Amino acid sequence: MRKNIVAGNWKMNTTLPEGLALAKELDAALKGKTVNCDVVIGTPFTHLATVAAAIDTAKIGVAAENCADQDKGAYTGEVSAAMVASTGAKYVILGHSERRAYYHETAEILKTKVTLALANGLTPIFCIGEVLEEREAGKHFEVVEEQIKSSLFDLSVEDFGKIVLAYEPVWAIGTGKTATSDQAQEIHAYIRKVVAAKYGETVANDCSILYGGSCNASNAKELFSKPDVDGGLIGGASLGVDKFLPIIEAF
Ligand code: PEP
Repeated sequence: MRKNIVAGNWKMNTTLPEGLALAKELDAALKGKTVNCDVVIGTPFTHLATVAAAIDTAKIGVAAENCADQDKGAYTGEVSAAMVASTGAKYVILGHSERRAYYHETAEILKTKVTLALANGLTPIFCIGEVLEEREAGKHFEVVEEQIKSSLFDLSVEDFGKIVLAYEPVWAIGTGKTATSDQAQEIHAYIRKVVAAKYGETVANDCSILYGGSCNASNAKELFSKPDVDGGLIGGASLGVDKFLPIIEAF
């Protein structure tokens, strides 16, 4: 069954005490509330175990924002998928455009990360999206198709069924520019078609495809009203409960 998901991506923000306070505030705000989507918060590695222990993880899933492309060993400073899973986190954001751009994460590296995440029981939230020049050149469809194919299409049907996709046009991330709901719907429907052609209609229909890029309390309802937009990956607006909660409640 396709799930609606609102996932926060805190990026490199909040110290541990600040992050813990934010997570606890969200936990308290959701207590006793019925919401119509799964809620996830993506925190820095340093916060995962503390946050997971402090909140009701049945209500709020915890995500890492990355994991290593190696299983274990002499990779100083890296954090493996097994380590992430051992904190109580259930998700990992992979392929975020900031990781692709600043840390040179290639399709091949991401493919390995996805495999390791799945092998360790984590749900990858796999990000795809075009840069502005690609959108302006009308290449956004082929760009996202290639990103999906090159990192995910060696997965078995069963494993692909565990992936959450996040379409994030790079020109909309942190810029205050949002894709219109029609632009989001158009490309989400295309992504679902690409998935259906490889894995079949059922898998494609069950796949949650989130929109990310300056999603906020004012535009979330309109974006989430589209049939192929199954929620959001939220950066800036996930850093305050006053901004994040209305997005959750947009469902
Ligand atoms: C993101 O980084 O995934 C994101 C969507 O950021 P923002 O909401 O700040 O544009």
